[in-house]
Amino acid sequence: MSASFLPSRAPRSASGWIPGERLANRVAVPEPRPDAPRIGVLALQGDVLEHLRALRRCGADAVAVRDAAQLAAVDGLILPGGESTTIGKLLVRFGLLEPLQRRIAQHLPVFGTCAGMILLSDELDQDTPQPLVGGLHVRTRRNAFGRQLDSFDTRIEVAGIDGGPLDVAFIRAPRIEAILAEDVEVWARVEGHPVVVRQGHLLAAAFHPEVTGDDRLHARFVAEVRAGLQAGGAAPDGTATVRPPLHTAGPELT
Ligand code: GLN
Repeated sequence: MSASFLPSRAPRSASGWIPGERLANRVAVPEPRPDAPRIGVLALQGDVLEHLRALRRCGADAVAVRDAAQLAAVDGLILPGGESTTIGKLLVRFGLLEPLQRRIAQHLPVFGTCAGMILLSDELDQDTPQPLVGGLHVRTRRNAFGRQLDSFDTRIEVAGIDGGPLDVAFIRAPRIEAILAEDVEVWARVEGHPVVVRQGHLLAAAFHPEVTGDDRLHARFVAEVRAGLQAGGAAPDGTATVRPPLHTAGPELT
């Protein structure tokens, strides 16, 4: 997926804002510094490249994750938007579902967006079962804002994000129907339903923050991964996480 789904002649709003215009104006992403946290993007299907670029703009060493060795080598992970049924089936097929569930149980910071939020949910509001990663104590309804044609760009206030409303895209977006545990914080709502939630090391957003060029949620996630590393890593027993080196080359991001 790329920013090209945005209408090329999007009408200017009264404020002069055109959805996605900041992304279109972006130039090459910077090289990560040697001390950058290594953050993966699950790269089985969906909106991978845009997340890698956004992470890189926020100072992370962004890498694609397609197997268990790559998963073991990251300090944090984004589950991208795309199609949750497809990503879930591929997680099973590539033997990644259980390793991912184990790393989440060991407090790996994970940020799920759109389909990624669906995958992180403990429960779905649907009869048909589909593979879920789980861990986030919410019940989520897929496609709650309508079909592809009902997709929209908007700006929403998000708790924990300074500097005014966040510029985001809702694309066949889910929403949270029920919060199932007290430690789930709601950071934003649309039409009364939670669309950004945070539960300890898990962050989830119903929309796509990576296609607009407004990187503040990514920056917040990168900052939290960095802070966790400085505090001694993500191991549940308090010992520092030792991550193996990553030998695979990442995709070209410029
Ligand atoms: N509707 C998709 C699903 O159920 C999610 C859409 C998206 O990630 N943009 O998986």
